[in-house]
Amino acid sequence: MEVRLASERGFCFGVEDAIELAEDAVSKHGAGRVVALGPVIHNKQVVGKLEEAGLNQSGDLKTIDSSQVVLIRSHGATPQTMKQISDRGLNVVDATCVLVKRAQNVVRQLHDDGYHVVMIGDPNHPEVKGVIAYAPVVTVVDSDTDLEEALPYRERIGIVAQTTHSPEHVADMIAKILRRPFREVKVVNTLCLEVTRRQEAAIALTKEVDVMFVLGGLHSANTREMAQLCRDEGTETYHIETWEQFDGSMVVGKKIAGVTAGASTPEWVIEGFIHNLEAV
Ligand code: SF4
Repeated sequence: MEVRLASERGFCFGVEDAIELAEDAVSKHGAGRVVALGPVIHNKQVVGKLEEAGLNQSGDLKTIDSSQVVLIRSHGATPQTMKQISDRGLNVVDATCVLVKRAQNVVRQLHDDGYHVVMIGDPNHPEVKGVIAYAPVVTVVDSDTDLEEALPYRERIGIVAQTTHSPEHVADMIAKILRRPFREVKVVNTLCLEVTRRQEAAIALTKEVDVMFVLGGLHSANTREMAQLCRDEGTETYHIETWEQFDGSMVVGKKIAGVTAGASTPEWVIEGFIHNLEAV
């Protein structure tokens, strides 16, 4: 079948940097000596390759000893975790994306400047969990229900967003917040343009195709959001990780398929998928 590829897709600079830092750390310190605090990125295939190369993973800092090196993943870590690492004198390689680090600093600054911080994001996402820990109190909202139930009245509020959210969703939430009687609302744009560009390219491609495939980790927030944006355009859309999850029924009656991929999806996964799909 005919396959068209989104003009922007796949690895962002933050993910490329994190993978390079992980590979360099393993080659410098040796297999089994570097331990990532959680998956380095939200892509099983890439994490699997890093593990094969000798990167270990642990969700618990206590399991890491002083002979090992701690790798902070692209989603960042809380200041409490960073302090524990420093107090124990552990070697650390920090692969936090610079844009996530900026969001952490913005949250701390907004709090120091007297704003009640509101983060628009998924409270269960590791980036959000890390970022909100940079102020003592942060309200996390991601839906109308959250706005109704969780948003307190404060004179001055400062808003940031999860880096991977779409501008449309964030703008919608801000518009609803502005309908409340807050005296001062300060918005700091913490969205990632790498993600925004991929979202725009995916939406543009939906206009040309009969079906969309969005490739990427099922836990990857930016991939999930991109798939939802494609569905919102009314195009049949499948979010799958690799060719193994493809099913012929997905393209029955379809002539042109669009392919894009989240910011943590490697090019070899995309190329393999396209190669197989073109042969259908
Ligand atoms: S998607 Fe954006 S914020 Fe996330 S790692 Fe990539 S560059 Fe950084």
